[in-house]
Amino acid sequence: MKVIETINQMQQKSESLRTAGKFISLVPTMGFLHEGHLELMRVAKEHSDKLIMSLFVNPTQFGPSEDFEQYPADTEGDLEKARSVGVDMVFMPSVEEMYPEDSQTVVSVKRLTQHLCGLSRPGHFDGVTTVVSKLFNSTKPHLAVFGQKDYQQLVVISRMVMDLNMDIKIIGVPTVREPDGLAMSSRNSYLDPEERKSALCLKRSLELADKMFHDGTREASLIKETVESFIQSNPFTEIDYITLCDPLTLEDIQTLGDESLLALAVRVGKTRLIDNCLIRKS
Ligand code: AMP
Repeated sequence: MKVIETINQMQQKSESLRTAGKFISLVPTMGFLHEGHLELMRVAKEHSDKLIMSLFVNPTQFGPSEDFEQYPADTEGDLEKARSVGVDMVFMPSVEEMYPEDSQTVVSVKRLTQHLCGLSRPGHFDGVTTVVSKLFNSTKPHLAVFGQKDYQQLVVISRMVMDLNMDIKIIGVPTVREPDGLAMSSRNSYLDPEERKSALCLKRSLELADKMFHDGTREASLIKETVESFIQSNPFTEIDYITLCDPLTLEDIQTLGDESLLALAVRVGKTRLIDNCLIRKS
């Protein structure tokens, strides 16, 4: 497994793979890998000849009061895990390499970013779409794989690819969970044992909402109120948002139809966690 630190070298490698007729996949990550990341890599590997993982904690997608400085890291462990799932190349640029002082271009998706995390994390998605564009231009993939755990990120990137005519296929992979249901996240490492117990209320509230739907409830406000009081009944929780929306436009809905997205962001102690599910007739 090759580790590449410069954009130039990465572009040259990818270009020669393309010339040799290889189909390239990319899995972008911010490291501190867990089974969720590894699942993305397995899917990417299945669909390609050469798998590139990027490892870059992107400063421009963090707000001033967010956890960029504390973001967990374990580069050696990550490289070992990447090797174990058959990653061919790791693209690991420095912040200076990705953002030279004179860079002044931002990629911005307009409407999809005005909902959910876009409201509580202003500028976050501009950071994401800009860095993902740069990662795409550096690694030249035919295919890129993202997790449905970050559902809004997946739809925003899919929109960007469509709007900018990027010739890259985007695949979304279902959320990988701990045995008790907690969605895997690098940020789970911030939780102390009591908070970890409380954090289960995210997944449980998704199940609660799904049950209400299947028992016949269609009113979004009723489901949201029930989810809200359930989450509030768990210690250390502070709700950022509970949203029922259209899964394609992310616009709020009043009445649940054939398919709706329930998305949550909840602070547990100091840790902001997100989770989501599609609610639909089965
Ligand atoms: P991150 O390192 O948190 O930026 O995540 C890198 C990629 O892994 C993103 O596409 C995430 O959506 C995806 N991901 C993170 N956690 C999970 C999970 N529990 N299940 C599936 N994909 C995930």
